[in-house]
Parts: sequence; structure tokens; C-alpha cells
Amino acid sequence: MLFYCNGVTMSLDQTVGQIFSWTLQLTSQKDYQELTYCFLGILAEIPWIDNAVAYEIYNHDRKKPGESSVFHERLFRRFPVDITRNDQDDNNNLANLLDQNADLNFSAPFETGLYSWVIFSIKGGSGPDRAIFLEGKFGLDGLDLLNNLRSAYRNLVILHDAKERDALTKLPNRQSLEARLLQVCELYRNYQAIDIKKEQSSWLAILDIDHFKRINDNFGHLYGDEVLLTFSQLMGKCFRYNDFLFRYGGEEFVVILNLINQDHAIAAFNRFREKVAKHIFPTVGQVTVSIGLMHLDSISMPTTQLDHADKALYHAKETGRNKVILYEDMHVIGHDKKRSDIELF
Ligand code: GH3
Ligand code: MG
Ligand code: MG
Repeated sequence: MLFYCNGVTMSLDQTVGQIFSWTLQLTSQKDYQELTYCFLGILAEIPWIDNAVAYEIYNHDRKKPGESSVFHERLFRRFPVDITRNDQDDNNNLANLLDQNADLNFSAPFETGLYSWVIFSIKGGSGPDRAIFLEGKFGLDGLDLLNNLRSAYRNLVILHDAKERDALTKLPNRQSLEARLLQVCELYRNYQAIDIKKEQSSWLAILDIDHFKRINDNFGHLYGDEVLLTFSQLMGKCFRYNDFLFRYGGEEFVVILNLINQDHAIAAFNRFREKVAKHIFPTVGQVTVSIGLMHLDSISMPTTQLDHADKALYHAKETGRNKVILYEDMHVIGHDKKRSDIELF
């Protein structure tokens, strides 16, 4: 018995062997990133596919400066994330090509009946929607195969999201943070000039809600959870889509702010701090946040970086809360290292 796909004929043994090989590769990946690298690799091996790119899709409501009405914006973050890349072209092209209600979007067929591009959507996980854009020459049987691969990849994305994201806020969890920190540092090792000038650097901040225990004690855990959820949504609105947000644990969150100088980084965190302080949380009322941040150099280990941000946070707590402290400033003013390392782990 022979199977035929896009002009390539395979025996049943070959077909089953191929499908098993793909299945084993896909199911042995340890996280979403590795899975997506693996999936793109599989697509690249298919002879009638010329190009395969994966995206994460973020939906944002934004206000244009000076206008009161809010407009809806869809942003496409290319995989793997390269914070030095401007995704504007991708955003415009993909927004036009992708009908979000369909799982598969494809080009008009040539006279030969073949299609030149296809986008498939991956929805339903606790993370952002994803899309895969493919260029090549696909017949209907090729689209069928791609659709089956899409379904397998989607199921695995959903499983990885469940493991790598926090169930309440849907933000990436602490486990994902370490991998991301290593990735950002790796990136700056390749862009030394940016790092040295500190004009366009990344900043790591730990954000800890002030007196959160009191909120639980006074209103109950359900209201505490509601505050955590609203807080994470304020984060999503306040920071840019190429910054990285995490739930670090409990009432602690982490932000990696990218491609920004020191003054603007501090200003961005102060803006967020003020936004939280002004927000009226249902039933609970006013909530404040303390923030410790540090400059992400490309040499230190993630544990050291987190320790430095934590020391700055501790200093913010000690000196009155509802404030932003930069670790590098603590050396200048002579405060440092009081907090024991043991508390971190
Ligand atoms: P500080 O201003 O010094 O940060 O005080 P705090 O009360 O915020 O800090 P503390 O570490 O004493 O208390 C944190 C509390 O957060 C204790 C814990 O019960 C609560 N908490 C941790 N995770 C969750 C959660 O998922 N939901 C709720 N509702 N509460 C949580
Ligand atoms: Mg805390
Ligand atoms: Mg706290």
C-alpha cells in the first residue's frame, strides 16, 4: 500500500516510521521553547516547505496619545524572542493575513491548485495564542498533513503551558523565569556594545505587594487571589509586550524590562507603582507595591541577579514600602547585603 503526499510517495512502513519519529521527537521535549524549536525543525525537513516561523499573539487595548478612545491591537512576537528585533513588519503582514476565527488561513491557490502560504493558529492554552506561518507549495493533502501536525503540536503546547504558567494569573512561573534570564543574558553577550553603554539594557525587578498577609487576614483568601489577578492584569497593561512578566511565587512578581536605559527603567517602575497605588481594588480598596531592581549584566548567574533584586526589594520594605529601589544605588548609599542568602531558597 502506498501513501501519496504533495508528489512524494511513501510506503506504509515509511509513513508509520515517519509519524512515530515525529511523535517521539515532539513528546520528548522538556518545555515550550524546546518543543517549538523541535516542531519548526520537523516542518523545515518537509521538502515542500520553504520557510516556517512561529509567533505568539498578544491582544492589547491601547490609547493613542491625545485621544480618549481605546483601540484594539494584535501584536505578533516572533519565536525565539529577539528583543533587539523590530517586529513591526511582521505585525502588519500577519494582522492582515490572519483571520482569528479560523484554525487555518491560506493563500489563494495558483492555477496548479497549490497554495503558497498557510498560517495555522494554536489556541486554548493558558498562554497567549500562537500562530505558525509557512511558505512553500502545498496541495490539499499537504494542508491535511499540516493540520494533523498542528493538532499534535497544539495539544503539547497546552500541556507545557499548564506546567510553565501560573494557574491563577496565567503568567509564566518561576521555573520559566530562570530559562528566560539565561536567554536574555546570552543575548546581551552577543550585543556587548548595548550592554556597556547601558543605554539599551535589560532590568530585572521583583515586585512584592505590601502587607498582603493583612489583605488575606482581613478579607479572606478569595479576595487575596482577586488582588493578585488584578495586579497581574495591571502589569500586562503597564509594561510593553517585549518585556517579560512572571509570577515569582505568592504575592511576588518579576519583570524583565528590555531595551531601556536606567532613568527610563526606574520611571517605568515608578509609573506602575503609582498606577497600583491609585487603583481601587474591589472590596479591598488601596494596595501598594514595593519594587527592587537591578541592571541585568550578561555575566552573573540568575541566582545572583535575583538575589540582588531581592536585596533592593528588602531595602524598599525596610525604608517605608511603596517605593522603587535600584540595587546599584544601594552601594552608593552604603546599604547592602543585610539580608541572608538563605531566605531566597
Ligand atoms: P510585606 O509588605 O513585608 O511584603 O508583607 P506581606 O504581608 O506582603 O508579606 P508576607 O510574606 O508576610 O505575606 C505574604 C502572604 O501572601 C502570606 C501568604 O499567605 C500569602 N499568599 C501567598 N500566596 C498566595 C496566594 O496564592 N493567594 C493568596 N490569597 N495569598 C497568598
Ligand atoms: Mg513576599
Ligand atoms: Mg508582600
